[in-house]
Amino acid sequence: MTKVFLKKKIQNRVLLGHPWVFGNEVGQIEGEVNAGDTVDVFLHNGSFLGRGYINPQSQILVRLLTRDRKEEINEQFFLNRLQKAWDYRKKIGYVENCRLVFGEADELPALVIDKFNDYLVIQTLALGIDRWKPAIVDALNKIFSPKGIYERNDVPVRELEGLPQQKGFLSAPFDTNIILNENGLKFHVDIENGQKTGYFLDQQDNRREIKNIVKGADVLEAFCYTGTFSCHAGHYDAKSVLGLDISEHAVATARRNAELNNLQDICKFQAVNAFDQLKQWTKEEKKFDVVILDPPAFTKSRENIQKAITGYKEINLRGMKLLKPGGFLVTASCTNLVNPSMFLETIDMAAKDARKKLRQVTFQTQAQDHPILWNIENTTYLKFLVVEVQ
Ligand code: SAH
Repeated sequence: MTKVFLKKKIQNRVLLGHPWVFGNEVGQIEGEVNAGDTVDVFLHNGSFLGRGYINPQSQILVRLLTRDRKEEINEQFFLNRLQKAWDYRKKIGYVENCRLVFGEADELPALVIDKFNDYLVIQTLALGIDRWKPAIVDALNKIFSPKGIYERNDVPVRELEGLPQQKGFLSAPFDTNIILNENGLKFHVDIENGQKTGYFLDQQDNRREIKNIVKGADVLEAFCYTGTFSCHAGHYDAKSVLGLDISEHAVATARRNAELNNLQDICKFQAVNAFDQLKQWTKEEKKFDVVILDPPAFTKSRENIQKAITGYKEINLRGMKLLKPGGFLVTASCTNLVNPSMFLETIDMAAKDARKKLRQVTFQTQAQDHPILWNIENTTYLKFLVVEVQ
């Protein structure tokens, strides 16, 4: 097996358990480098560090799969890892729908698997893990006997790995429009054409958090996607709910979701640009009791963090202005590039500009089925804040 030796001086990151080895951390390589192959990684002094997959085309040269020298990377390895990920979800009580595999946090770098009741949706985001797709699918069939498995690899990040964007069935074809249950509601999920894997499981716990504050309230949700927060608001006895999203497809699904839960009289949706709409309504001094904001990442790269912050600040400022005194702002950010303290600072700046005082109700992160590893920074990515605005 090809041997990768790290430089003498390397950052503690890898030693402390982070699975990524960057190209500039590597001193020398013994043996052939074939993209996607399994390699052994050693420290400068020759002691074994771990085993993983290599891709010279990627800035992350090796992603480690194990630090146990005796553990081989084969079909059995993937069966064991997936069983372990499933056992963990069962233990913490995420059974029907869950993020079954959250990449690095499940010692399966660049692999994402969402379980929507009897269906599984997979993303293999690096070449080395993509190679093992047949083994992963076999293991999933063994553990779950699912009704269907679908691949949502239509994501640009695969191109950094030299992989094509693609999507399709990894099982016999099935109807990709499914319905899932969450917190006593039902939601349509379009596995084939929905965003990401079709549904945002990471907010499943946070959606329950709005229960008390929406009672009897006029609620505005911007960036509502398929209306999941909106339907929760309706279900929790909001007086009226208005959801906005730029995507016609998302808004059409949101309307169907409201109907599915018999909330169509309370929950209304509009396909508009939320930036423009919030701006106009601020001018018109329109007011709501609760404003919910769950925008997209705004940036995918470190260079553009400032752009993301400007976006977050603008919508939160407008959100605050649209609230009646004592109203509640429910606001989220889903990019790991903006860390929790940066996010809170941004909300604070918006409050100062809007001349509002905030009282924090709760500050949370993603649902527990997306585990956070303290030594892997980017496993903390979702910020979810509820504040009372005076
Ligand atoms: N809260 C949702 C997820 C929201 S994802 C859930 O829990 O399921 C972010 C959404 O913002 C996407 O649906 C995207 O279509 C929408 N979006 C992006 N830019 C927008 C804009 N300028 N105006 C309105 N919606 C926008």
